[in-house]
Amino acid sequence: MPTPSRYWREIPQRYRFEAGKCRSCGYVCFPPRLVCPRCGAREFEDIRLAEAGSLVSFTVIRVAPHAFVDQSPYAVGIADLDDGTRLTAQIVDCDFEDLKVGLRVKLEFRKIYEEGETGVIYYGYKFVPE
Ligand SMILES: [Zn+2]
Repeated sequence: MPTPSRYWREIPQRYRFEAGKCRSCGYVCFPPRLVCPRCGAREFEDIRLAEAGSLVSFTVIRVAPHAFVDQSPYAVGIADLDDGTRLTAQIVDCDFEDLKVGLRVKLEFRKIYEEGETGVIYYGYKFVPE
């Protein structure tokens, strides 16, 4: 769980879908990181993710982790963005029957969940069918 200050610092990157591309191996980190998880390099190029892509896999979550219980059932998908980046995110504003491999989705910045006791609302990206 990120602390609120760290979380808010990251919001501009998340909102603008800024990512870091490893100068050594080309791995794309989103959100950006300081160290490449694939090769350990620390040099990154700032890039903007493509904001749309196609689903390559999906599943419907019916037994959700604690923070997401009030949203279940919900769909989670893996999409290849148009720049080749592969991302996992919740799929919203869709009927489960319409989900299929190859479905076009766009990235949108949405509320992820609200923390019950503190009322803190977390935001992040989700997939929305185009
Ligand atoms: Zn790397």
